[in-house]
Amino acid sequence: MVALRALKQRLTEIDDLSRAASVLRWDQTTYMPPAGAGARARQIATLSGLAHERFIDAETGRLLDAAARETASLPFESDEASLVRVTRHRWDRDVRLPTALVAETEEHAAVSYQAWTVARPADDFESVRPHLEKTLELSRRTAECYPGYDHIADPLIDFYDHGMKAASVRELFHGLRRRIEPLVEAIASRPQADASCLKRRAPLETQLAFGLEVIRTFGFDFDRGRQDLTRHPFMTRFAHGDVRITTRWREDDLTDSLFSTLHECGHALYEMGIDPRLDGTPLATGASAGIHESQSRLWENLVGRSRGFWEHFYPRLQAAMPAQLGGVQLDPFHRAINRVERSLIRTDADEVTYNLHVMLRFDLELDLLEGRVAVRDLPRVWRDRFEQSIGLPVPSDRDGVLQDVHWYHGLIGGVFQGYTLGSILSAQFFATAVKAHPGIPDEIRRGAFGTLHGWLRENVYRHGSKFTPDELVRRVTGSDLSVDPYMAYLEGKYRPLYGLG
Ligand code: ZN
Repeated sequence: MVALRALKQRLTEIDDLSRAASVLRWDQTTYMPPAGAGARARQIATLSGLAHERFIDAETGRLLDAAARETASLPFESDEASLVRVTRHRWDRDVRLPTALVAETEEHAAVSYQAWTVARPADDFESVRPHLEKTLELSRRTAECYPGYDHIADPLIDFYDHGMKAASVRELFHGLRRRIEPLVEAIASRPQADASCLKRRAPLETQLAFGLEVIRTFGFDFDRGRQDLTRHPFMTRFAHGDVRITTRWREDDLTDSLFSTLHECGHALYEMGIDPRLDGTPLATGASAGIHESQSRLWENLVGRSRGFWEHFYPRLQAAMPAQLGGVQLDPFHRAINRVERSLIRTDADEVTYNLHVMLRFDLELDLLEGRVAVRDLPRVWRDRFEQSIGLPVPSDRDGVLQDVHWYHGLIGGVFQGYTLGSILSAQFFATAVKAHPGIPDEIRRGAFGTLHGWLRENVYRHGSKFTPDELVRRVTGSDLSVDPYMAYLEGKYRPLYGLG
């Protein structure tokens, strides 16, 4: 397997360059002083450009051809055959992207991110508008590298959620919306849960320490990971032995940093669970944005917002915050953290209305790419559509079109559908795990997560990106992606919480 060995060595060098760029990005969003932004943008662009250039080189293609012959008789799911198959797919895709476009996009993303960090607190859309116009142009140019698409967003969606297209996501979302909207309406007709017990002040150290205690029990390995503070939380992997998570915090909200920590921990457990033999190859990453998000949302919501979880952890949280929660019983607390209401900010939204926020962004991405909405009109269109679909007036761009980092730190198109795909899949995977191990809910009630974590590692995590999202979902659950388990989960949880029959 001479060619396979040479291919692996080449891919590891490319991976080194990409992960080094990831370290720079992580630093930019955690510790870097603002004046470092210009040089940092260039440094990230240089590394990403080098990685791309080396990857799309004809030599990679030649090694892939030779390695394909060497591995032809190996089983589909072997590390070797999977490496060749998945890398071939990526090579065929990336070879069509000019290096100059990749570097320009990376540099622009870093510059635009820095502008957004100033524009959002200042509620100043005008100052980022030129950046966003350039982002849209770069997004279109990227998509145009793949002529023959049905919709201009298709190539971008395929980058993140391989196998999905604008039309298939639209259809899926349309069906989901029809089932979620009546639930939102029904809940709105009931007396609202009181969440004032969460709006109390607790020191940063207390909040962070509790979150870290919880994720330690989930299985987050602190020898292979750490947590830092940022504006817009994320997870990033540098190697099997180094997976970073970030969180945000609010002094006057007791659980904001906690749920952000649980969410990013879910992403990290996925990365930490990938077979170490795949490290340094294109297989050492999640299968897709949607599959990744299924893990963050599974640990954050299906576990972390469940009644059973809090039966174990609530006395501990009360002990950590006696002045704030000593007098609050478990049930009102559990209702407070699961309060469903129309709200302005996606990342604060409850599980039921969350998807409406995602759908709004997804539709806007399609319209921007199609040229049906111009960037200069985006704040106004955002306000109109937000009021139409979520039913609230938007008081400012800060809490409107400027709220999410994504369009200001990457491309427009492809990034939002993964959140709702993840919500859907989180319930599908969890239901499958509980079917295989009916004791899981009882374990969660005792603060034990070994069976659930072990099942996910065995069935999902260790494979990295060996399988396409469709292959993986079918393999794990025995069926295609379905919204039924997700709706059953939402109805089964929120109808009793709001006293609906
Ligand atoms: Zn996430």
